[in-house]
Amino acid sequence: MAEPPEDADPDRGQPCHACGDQCPGFLVHGWRKICQHCKCPREEHAVRAVPIDLERMMCRLISDFQRHSISDDDSGCASEDYAWVPPGLKPEQVYQFFSCLPEDKVPYVNSPGERYRIRQLLHQLPPHDSEAQYCSPLEEEEKKELKLFSQQRKRENLGRGTVRLFPVTITGAICEQCGKQIRGGDIAVFASRAGHGACWHPQCFQCTTCQELLVDLIYFYQEGKVYCGRHHAEHLKPRCQACDEIIFADECTEAEGRHWHMRHFCCFECEEALGGQRYVMRQSRPYCCRCYQALYAEYCDACGEPIGINQGQMTYEGQHWHATNTCFCCTRCRQPLLGKPFLPKGGQIFCSRGCSLGGDEASASDSCDSASRPPGGRGPPPHPPLARSSPSLTALPGPAWPGWAPQLSGTPERGRS
Ligand SMILES: [Zn+2]
Ligand SMILES: [Zn+2]
Ligand SMILES: [Zn+2]
Ligand SMILES: [Zn+2]
Ligand SMILES: [Zn+2]
Ligand SMILES: [Zn+2]
Ligand SMILES: [Zn+2]
Ligand SMILES: [Zn+2]
Repeated sequence: MAEPPEDADPDRGQPCHACGDQCPGFLVHGWRKICQHCKCPREEHAVRAVPIDLERMMCRLISDFQRHSISDDDSGCASEDYAWVPPGLKPEQVYQFFSCLPEDKVPYVNSPGERYRIRQLLHQLPPHDSEAQYCSPLEEEEKKELKLFSQQRKRENLGRGTVRLFPVTITGAICEQCGKQIRGGDIAVFASRAGHGACWHPQCFQCTTCQELLVDLIYFYQEGKVYCGRHHAEHLKPRCQACDEIIFADECTEAEGRHWHMRHFCCFECEEALGGQRYVMRQSRPYCCRCYQALYAEYCDACGEPIGINQGQMTYEGQHWHATNTCFCCTRCRQPLLGKPFLPKGGQIFCSRGCSLGGDEASASDSCDSASRPPGGRGPPPHPPLARSSPSLTALPGPAWPGWAPQLSGTPERGRS
């Protein structure tokens, strides 16, 4: 695919909040929707404003939804001080509403709260969950499915919370989230999809999955729970870990409980296809063995050589060894220690207290590591407390053990369309 022109992305070059100086500035990856430099998503960067595209997409989302809705108000038009306010409130009620939220989540213009709102809009309402134009090129069939998926969610699940004052004359209600009282005179959020009595404290109107405040009060209702757009979509369909899009293809790749488009199950570093190949998973990202080795191989404390992913590895308190008799052995007498208790001392491992004290100095009790001396004890303990090869010592599997080619599976259908 052709690179978009340089000026096409308003966030290009924006610093990353998560990486600081480590990221030279946002540069979007061709299809992963993350920064090419630091690998963080767009919303981790200092996004200047709600991107025009997203704004238009949200307008379409909300206006489509309002055609189906009976009672919800216009969208909130911002006052001078706020980037967004709940619609239909008097200024003092707006103040009352925002005073319920943590200060850093109140969207004052040019504040951390406004940045939080933009970040959450991007995260909670991915444009590629609704419209094919924001997706990597889709097959005709996938386009059709995305359209149906998106229409169905708008029709059956999407809503926008409304904020109202509880009349003082009313005894109050119970918040759907925290179970505590909302009293007469309190301000509350109502969601018509959840039924007319259902209400929340402003700070409690959160996504069931990510527990973030539902941005601009936009929610998706399903089986008694409210979700943000992202997590509602994931409740129904798998999301590709690589491109962040919902998977509509008949087949996808599944590994460690996560999903990928078949063509997107590739090395996170070099993008070599990994279908049918060995790979190593690190932080839910698959790597080819070559890249993994180059980026993350551990070095053996005995011989100083890297530990290949096909080689056994011993790990103890941040140290690593080849799982061989020549590398994992007593520092002094070279006795192999694989599968045996051993005594760690000063970054080295020994077969016995004798070896750890070191031949000539064996009589000097003050050279003995505190780990091998009983607390308060005098002289050599009868049974040196040796480390055991399990569980403190692990012979890999862990994350650094290569997996085999992932199993193929049909797209799991969790919802009905
Ligand atoms: Zn970053
Ligand atoms: Zn970055
Ligand atoms: Zn509550
Ligand atoms: Zn969520
Ligand atoms: Zn994908
Ligand atoms: Zn690679
Ligand atoms: Zn070694
Ligand atoms: Zn020894």
